[in-house]
Amino acid sequence: VIVGGGAAGYAAAHAIRTSGWAGDISVFSADRDAPYDRTLLTKDYLDGHFGDDRLPIAHRGLEELGVSLQLGINVDALDAHDHVLRLTGGGIQRFSKLLLATGADPHKPDFPGADLPHVKCLRSLEDCRQIISAVKRASRVVVLGGSFISLEAAASIRSRGLTVDVISPEPHPLSKIVGRALSELVVQTHRDKGVQLHLGHKIAKVTTNMVTLDDGNVLECDLLVVGIGVEPRVELAKEAGLALDRGVVVDSQLRTSLPDIYAAGDIARWPDPHTNEAIRVEHWVVAERQGAIAGANMLGAATTFEMVPFFWTKHFDLAIRYVGHAQEWDEERCEGSVAERDVIIRYLKAGRELAVATVGRDLQSIQAEQEMMRRLAERRRACSAKLAANQHSSFR
Ligand SMILES: Cc1cc2nc3c(=O)[nH]c(=O)nc-3n(C[C@H](O)[C@H](O)[C@H](O)COP(=O)(O)OP(=O)(O)OC[C@H]3O[C@@H](n4cnc5c(N)ncnc54)[C@H](O)[C@@H]3O)c2cc1C
Repeated sequence: VIVGGGAAGYAAAHAIRTSGWAGDISVFSADRDAPYDRTLLTKDYLDGHFGDDRLPIAHRGLEELGVSLQLGINVDALDAHDHVLRLTGGGIQRFSKLLLATGADPHKPDFPGADLPHVKCLRSLEDCRQIISAVKRASRVVVLGGSFISLEAAASIRSRGLTVDVISPEPHPLSKIVGRALSELVVQTHRDKGVQLHLGHKIAKVTTNMVTLDDGNVLECDLLVVGIGVEPRVELAKEAGLALDRGVVVDSQLRTSLPDIYAAGDIARWPDPHTNEAIRVEHWVVAERQGAIAGANMLGAATTFEMVPFFWTKHFDLAIRYVGHAQEWDEERCEGSVAERDVIIRYLKAGRELAVATVGRDLQSIQAEQEMMRRLAERRRACSAKLAANQHSSFR
């Protein structure tokens, strides 16, 4: 049984079925829509280039794979001891193996007026449909947040010809992840396309047609889109007593602290062999690959998750690709030109490369990923050789 019909949940169900499992597979999703590509919701779907036909995650839907897909059903409680899920409406579902892939929830704003109907967060397709329908009636849109989601949304809405103001509490949006140079490139790209940015500011209050900033500046607004970060959805895991650490703690095979229960995607904090840190990320491809490995492991494969994390982001015609994971770094090595959008930036800590971002250099991004995998294999070989040598000398 899989709780979550997103990237990780879909990939897990697909992997379980295509690995030869002929028994029952059930996927529960609070979403009313069948699994779709969430990453398009701030990009080609929001800017109007793609319609609904481009949204499904894969050509083969889960029902076609013989998976029972239960949409619009919330799993309210998990009894880990008795292997039972309790569903909204009073139903129950037994499981022999369970995957939690419940994703994340957007942070809700708390300024006065945050509960007005034209204030919208963006996570689900339903949220996006509401935003698109509001965009069609709006002329002045304000976007709150210096996150990937808020800035991508601002770009897509601006591409529809609307006036867009972005209010970002961070003076250098995205810089904690991609550094100052790429932060400035993203900001400049937005400015060049006519987005007004109010950096280092917060919202003081919102009324039906005005947003007041913390410096007293007032903006006209008939739609406010909020993208101020997300929170992993760990309620089920918490109540069931699974080990948590700003997410659900899993081991290298994506097993949680309780038997027969796995976790994958935005909720999972796993031991990353590349940084030797326990990390949790909010990346689409990581969720998909974790789902596939968790699914295989639910059938007994015992595969280790050791992918180099990867994500991409797109703002108008600017695309950034990022491999690895650098929570903090003390050196940025830059080759090429940021202004010409032809650049590779390496993020290092104590001389060790942790992550690489590229613009206009996709091949080098893939090579950087391969190089990180090669270095991991090398470290493992050196470690095994050392262990073998130690055993040999202690036997003597
Ligand atoms: C608008 C947007 C754009 C993005 N763009 C990018 C991008 O460009 N690049 C990138 O790398 N990443 C991007 N991301 C992040 C990426 O989409 C996530 O990392 C990914 O979706 C995580 O997959 P997941 O399966 O863990 O969770 P999700 O895809 O969020 O799926 C979670 C599922 O669990 C269900 N669920 C939750 N709780 C329950 C419950 N109690 N009972 C039943 N069902 C439940 C939900 O309904 C949903 O179906 C974007 C995210 C958003 C929101």
